[in-house]
Order: sequence, then C-alpha cells, then structure tokens
Amino acid sequence: MSVTTERATDVLRAQDPQMADILDGERQRQATTLQLSAAENFTSPAVLAALGSPLANKYAEGYPGARHHGGCEYADLAERVAQERATALFGVEHANVQPHSGSSAVLAAYAALLRPGDTVLAMGLAYGGHLTHGSPANFSGRWFEFVGYGVDAESGLVDYEQVQQLARAHRPKAIVCGSISYPRHLEYSAFREIADEVGAYLIADAAHPIGLVAGGAAPSPVPYADVICATTHKVLRGPRGGMVLCGAEFAERVDRAVFPFTQGGAQMHTIAAKAVAFGEAAGPAFTRYAHKVVANARALAAALRAHGLAVTTGGTDTHLITADPAPLGVDGPAARGRLAAAGIVLDTCALPYGDQRGIRLGTAAVTTQGMGEPEMALIAELFAGALGGADAAGTRAAVAELTGRFPPYGA
Ligand SMILES: *Cc1c(COP(=O)(O)O)cnc(C)c1O
Repeated sequence: MSVTTERATDVLRAQDPQMADILDGERQRQATTLQLSAAENFTSPAVLAALGSPLANKYAEGYPGARHHGGCEYADLAERVAQERATALFGVEHANVQPHSGSSAVLAAYAALLRPGDTVLAMGLAYGGHLTHGSPANFSGRWFEFVGYGVDAESGLVDYEQVQQLARAHRPKAIVCGSISYPRHLEYSAFREIADEVGAYLIADAAHPIGLVAGGAAPSPVPYADVICATTHKVLRGPRGGMVLCGAEFAERVDRAVFPFTQGGAQMHTIAAKAVAFGEAAGPAFTRYAHKVVANARALAAALRAHGLAVTTGGTDTHLITADPAPLGVDGPAARGRLAAAGIVLDTCALPYGDQRGIRLGTAAVTTQGMGEPEMALIAELFAGALGGADAAGTRAAVAELTGRFPPYGA
C-alpha cells in the first residue's frame, strides 16, 4: 500500500484542518521566499516518502541482527542498506547511521573517545565553533575542558601555527576540526599532524561540508580523522539527522556510544530516508549538483562583494558565505530582519573580529531549485536593495517571481 504525498495531505486536511493549514503555510513560505540558510536544503520527494512511511511505527533498539524488539526484519534491511551506502559513498570502514541529529553524533564521538574532564581543543564559539564544541550552555562545555582556537583576524583563515601552539601547551585528548560558519576548506592533514604530535584523537565535525565531500566538491576528512561526525540534512540533502563514520578500530566504541550510551530506539523511518539520500548522493547528478553549489556560492560571494558587503576571507570554497554588512550601514541582526521582511531568509553568525555579528548564507537550497549564476547575480541585487532601504513589498514580489520560476518541488 502506498500513500502519495497528495493523498497524505488530503487525509490530514480532512482530519485536522488546523495543522493542515500550518503545514500548507510552511510549504508556501518555502516555495515563495529565498532559502539562503547555509544549513538548509530541499530533500527529494523520495526522501519525504520514506520519512512518511510506516517504518515510523517501528521500534528497533540495537543494531541489525541484534535487536531488543521483535519484527525487525525490514528495519534491519533498511539500516543495513543505509550503512552499506554510507560506507561506499564516503570510502570508510564503518558508518553508524542512528544519531538523531548532528549534535547527537558529536555527543557519541566524545562518548566513544573521551572521559568527563578531558581537555579538548576545538574552534572557539566566537569564531564559528558549534555549541557542541564547548559552549557553557551545552553538555560539552559542562563535561569537558575546552580550549578554543581562533581564526586570523585579518584573513579570517585558521591559523595552524596557533592550533599547534595550543595543542603543545594544553595536550588535549582530542582535537575537533569543523565549524558552523567557516567558508574555506579545512586542511585535515595539518590537523592530523598536530594531533599526532601531541597524541590526541582527531574528530572531524563535518556537519556542513559532508554533502560536498559526497559529491567530490570538497576534500574528505575520512583519510585523516579518527572519527567523523556529520549531519544528513545540510548540503547532503537527506532527512534531519546525524551519522558517525570511522575506521574498523573505533567501530565498536562508536556503536556503543550511540546505543545504548546516548540514545534509545533509532528512528527507523529516518534511517530509511538517509539510505535514500545516500543512494541519490552516489549518482552523477549529485556530483554535478555539489560542484554547482560551490560555483553558485563563489558567484554569489563575488556579487555581494561588488555590492559592498565585506565577505569574510574574500570568498568561499564551499556552499557557505559569511559577511559583514556593516559597510551598508547595518549589523547582522538588523540585516537578517530587513532581508526576512523582503522574503530573503538567512542566519546571523559570529565574525572573526570584534563583537558585532555578521550574516551567514549558503547556496545548497537555491541550487537544488535549479538556480545558477545569473540568479546569484539577481539575488545579490535584491539583497543590496533590501539592505539599502528598497521597498520590502517590491523585493518580496521580485523574490516570489524568481522562486516561481524555480519551484522547489516542481510546478
Ligand atoms: C549543524 C551542525 C551541528 C549540529 O547539527 P544538529 O542536527 O542541529 O544537531 C553540529 N556541528 C556543526 C559543525 C554543525 O554545523
């Protein structure tokens, strides 16, 4: 029995019009405004179908072939397919596809390798480290001694000499490389050398670039890091979730760190959807997509610079751009507000200097919609207009015209 998305929507509307209206509103919002959040994307209808499947009903604590529940024959098949596709896609020996989110994947990586009180060297939160990289508001900052490295205030780039000096001074048990806002490729080999020198584990938190890695558009951390944590819903275009990749020597520790140490039953429908996304990412169309995401980001960064924004590091190697809109007379939060009013959705972020916040944007979603470099130039124009005080309703209409030509789920 298969329920199409349309039929599922009809069923929901008949039973619960209040929630159907809310979901329709969200569908409209996504289709008529520009999704430039660097962390978001549009999953395929096939991924959505797996997410809305009856595997959502299934409890399957444990791992394929060793479950604490009965009736897991299809759950086992789904998880094995997800594992096999992930290991093939990333050329890695082991994949744990159960983490509920990117943060759960990081938690599991720490649980596999560290003890409470251990010292960890990671990018400081003021420079683009994630909450799980030592925020006092997060388990990581409470349970571990985090030391933060920064980026060069002038260039915005990681200063590998500073990382090495901090590693020598603090002798961390693990070094974390990865960020929520770093627009350039990380030199995983440099991190590996530093980790080896001080006897630290190397954990790559590749939540952002993992989709580009899958498409061959960014270097892979797999040959260098002991454990790699990632999300499946950013550039990779899968369902909201996480995964942990590692060599065979860490497989058992990672698996025990996910279940039973940090999670109970895995979300089997999400695991099926992850498998669908890995299958999509293995094909040539996704390779073209990943390269186009980067080409679009480069074009957009150049166009934003031409309109006067101060683009951090002068550009990007990835899907992600950070910029200081101050030259246009607004700070990051004000820019986000003005752009949102004009139908352009993005996030604020830390900047490598001072206390003011900048903006962070990405091209994963608009590229999925089929937009290319001419549209990036138009987006930059709308952007500068909105920040320069252009009429928000007029920009909204121009945005709706543009997104109408590139509907996320077809016409
Ligand atoms: C997005 C992200 C995460 C967390 O992912 P969630 O699914 O939101 O928990 C962790 N680390 C980095 C570097 C990220 O960019």
